[in-house]
Amino acid sequence: MKKFVCDKMCSELGKWLRAAGYDTDIIQTPLEDEEIFNKAVEEERFLITRDKDFKTIDPDKQTVIYLRSEAIDDWARQLKVEEGVDWLFRPFSRCLQCNSPFEKTAPPSEFPEGIPEDAEEFWSCPSCDQLFWLGSHTERMESQLKAWQSGS
Ligand SMILES: [Zn+2]
Repeated sequence: MKKFVCDKMCSELGKWLRAAGYDTDIIQTPLEDEEIFNKAVEEERFLITRDKDFKTIDPDKQTVIYLRSEAIDDWARQLKVEEGVDWLFRPFSRCLQCNSPFEKTAPPSEFPEGIPEDAEEFWSCPSCDQLFWLGSHTERMESQLKAWQSGS
């Protein structure tokens, strides 16, 4: 399975890769291009970027995936067609906030505000304690993932 790191400009795409189940780091702190590149190589991640400067750092494109378009739908298509990304790889198996794999958990005894009464399946993130459940929000995300995967 490919692993990715997204620079800040493509952080939204990075969240979607996590939603699809891919191990994806997102650069949040200001780092020099060289540092980002070296980190990607070290962690064996493909570096997804809109920054043309990376073309000179990695002319053979061993590590850098340069997004050509401005639109996220085009990015999704590019990753699918050229990098073999499966947008329905393992949906909702990773924390969108911090990238850790979710762990299945029992429903909380008292539902925090905002969680619908009929929510059934729950996961929690071992790193950031985020609670996650299937519902209308995941249905919306899933239909987006399906649309990208089917190419429509
Ligand atoms: Zn988390």
